Amino acid sequence: MKVLVLGAGVIGTTCAHYLAKAGHEVTVVDRQPGPALETSLANAGGVCPSFAGPWAAPGMPLKVMRWLFARHAPLMLRPRIDPAQWRWLAAFLRNCTAERFADNKARMQRIAHYSKACLVALREETGIAYDHGTGGVLQIFRTGEELEGGHLSSRVLESFGVPHRLIDAREAKRIEPAIADAVPLAGALHLPADETGDCHMFTGKLADRLRQRGVAFQFNTTVERLLVNGGRLDGVVTDKGLLHADLTVVALASEAPFLLRPVGINLPIYPVKGYAVTLPIEREDAAPRSSVMDEHSKVMITRLGNRIRAAGVAEVGGYDRTAVPRQCETVVRTAKELFPAAATNGRAEYWAGLRPMTPDGPPYLGRTPIAGLVLNVGQGSNGWTQACGCGRIVADIVSGRPPEIDLEGLTFDRLMKPN
Ligand SMILES: Cc1cc2nc3c(=O)[nH]c(=O)nc-3n(C[C@H](O)[C@H](O)[C@H](O)COP(=O)(O)OP(=O)(O)OC[C@H]3O[C@@H](n4cnc5c(N)ncnc54)[C@H](O)[C@@H]3O)c2cc1C
Repeated sequence: MKVLVLGAGVIGTTCAHYLAKAGHEVTVVDRQPGPALETSLANAGGVCPSFAGPWAAPGMPLKVMRWLFARHAPLMLRPRIDPAQWRWLAAFLRNCTAERFADNKARMQRIAHYSKACLVALREETGIAYDHGTGGVLQIFRTGEELEGGHLSSRVLESFGVPHRLIDAREAKRIEPAIADAVPLAGALHLPADETGDCHMFTGKLADRLRQRGVAFQFNTTVERLLVNGGRLDGVVTDKGLLHADLTVVALASEAPFLLRPVGINLPIYPVKGYAVTLPIEREDAAPRSSVMDEHSKVMITRLGNRIRAAGVAEVGGYDRTAVPRQCETVVRTAKELFPAAATNGRAEYWAGLRPMTPDGPPYLGRTPIAGLVLNVGQGSNGWTQACGCGRIVADIVSGRPPEIDLEGLTFDRLMKPN
């Protein structure tokens, strides 16, 4: 079958890999000059099924209220005259109940663990190296209240059978010895099965490999409109002309709703902006061995080869991608506080990206009511973690094979239920 994949981020490119592997003739289209140049460019680098879960959680509305008045808050709300933003926020609040959280968490855990297994298999099959590590993630708690949250997380992890250990400060320092003594540690949660790696490097190398195997990449091409006739996708209008295929996969992250709304598909995906800084490591012994998630600032600091990447902050405020210095500062501050001597003089690269977030958490995968139109969108803050699993599932659906995991709550049908 001739398949078009719209979007060459980590989601579109991994999906192209599984589609090509299933024997389809694949073309990937993107407005950028190369793969993974938008949200997949400089994320925190965590492949973390252990963390996978919705941000809409019991207690979150109260936390958000508190953060509204904090100077360096992990989450910021910038209200806009945009009905999509308000609809998204209302749906987010509706999903903060214990019952909905439990359902959404289970769905995200299902896809994330499956995805990690797919990534490991892909890595073994292709030999692609992407500054990856298998050293796990250490989530650190600075206060008693945060540690209390860690106990709650531990019970949830227990119920999903995720390997983890709640540990004291001394043990945490044994795992990540470079954490500065000045940082107060009430305890930590060690998640040994999680991995790390450079999402942009992975996607670029995978795209190179796909090109060698006959997958076409059409870059510098903006998708403008979807043509639907008689309930079937008839073509894709781009600034370089009309494209036709037997089937089209939409992997356009936060931009997907703009193309889908005019054809009657109202996806509740809204961008949540995040920031990152990448620094060259100057002192090996002063850098993280693997990855540290600071629960206090919600900033994650990860080793990627000879660099460290610190990323965090969540800003619900529209589609601007500027790396605003003040927000980057929140991320840099945490990195310097935790690992003060790791990188002092090197050139810092600042970045901002838009997480394509659904209000309830899980992505939208698979067929739509429009024949020939398939979704692979809304992976939010977990897209690197979920990419291989989502790509494999979509390729299986397209190829008429039953996906290997239960898709309850992960497909278009969920849109039909009030959320
Ligand atoms: C600060 C931050 C930290 C993060 N940390 C992690 C992490 O540690 N672990 C994790 O799993 N996830 C993380 N994420 C989330 C992860 O980066 C995203 O979920 C993932 O990159 C989304 O991939 P994507 O392919 O859907 O989006 P993108 O990479 O943005 O790809 C979409 C593509 O569509 C193209 N496009 C859009 N509109 C058009 C159009 N009209 N025409 C043509 N092309 C178009 C874009 O150019 C882009 O290449 C983080 C995100 C942020 C912002």
